[in-house]
Parts: sequence; structure tokens; C-alpha cells
Amino acid sequence: MRSDNNSYSDSQPLKQNTTNNVEKLLKKRAAIICSVLALIIIASGFGWFWWCNSSNSGQYAHLYQYGILIDTIDLAAVSDDYTFTITGTDGSYNIIEIHDHKIHIIDASCPDLVCVNTGYGKNNILPITCLPNSLIIKVTSQPAADSNEVDIDVYTY
Ligand SMILES: [Zn+2]
Repeated sequence: MRSDNNSYSDSQPLKQNTTNNVEKLLKKRAAIICSVLALIIIASGFGWFWWCNSSNSGQYAHLYQYGILIDTIDLAAVSDDYTFTITGTDGSYNIIEIHDHKIHIIDASCPDLVCVNTGYGKNNILPITCLPNSLIIKVTSQPAADSNEVDIDVYTY
């Protein structure tokens, strides 16, 4: 028993040492993982910043209802904020506001209100879409819309 104790205490420093090494290694790994994660977060932050800035150039709002271009608004030329309503054939409506040279939907008859929650339309990548009311607002840097009809797949229910 005594010899067991001895051998245990003999191996103790070694074991302690190994544990310490493992801990150090784990801490080192954790530090590396943390710094890699931090780099990724910083990089994506910059990417997001760049993306937001580069895509803020959209100035023309193209409004499509039932897949057909119904209006184009030069947002930069709007001097005073205003609101207007687009009414659907079934009595549905979307209240749109031009505010500070930006466009967004402030109220709608649709049940999901995704269009309202989308916020301001900034670019072509994320158009303001109200699927229940078949309304799409695309903000682009082009004064003329690419075509009079939006991508057909949007309307493939
Ligand atoms: Zn909606």
C-alpha cells in the first residue's frame, strides 16, 4: 500500500505535467480558434460594410404589380417625402413611403407583412416583395428597368 502510494506520488508530477501540457495545448488551440473566429467576424464585418456601401447606389425604384412594371421613381429627385397607395384588383393595398430618398412599404393588407418588415429597398439583390399582393419594388442604379416584367420564377407559385 505504501509502495503504491509512493509510486502514485512519483508519477504524480509527471501526470500533473502532462495535464498541464494538455491544458496548455488546449488553451493554445482555443486561442488559435478564437483568433481565427475573430478574423472571420472582422472580415465578414468589412464585407458586409462594403456590400452595404457598394449596393447603396440604387436610386431608381421600379414598382411591379402582377409582374408588370407600373411605375419608376427617381428617388434622388424626390425633394419632399410622400406616401402613396397601390391597390390590387382584389382590394389589397400596399402603402408606400418615399422617405429621405429611400423607399419602403409602411403598411399593407397582406397577412405576413414581410414587405413592411423588409424595410427600405436598397438594391436589386433584396427587392421589397409582397407575394400575397403580387407587388415587387426593385431599387437599381438603372433609370430603365431591364424588362417590363419581373423574373417569371417569382410568380411561379
Ligand atoms: Zn406584404
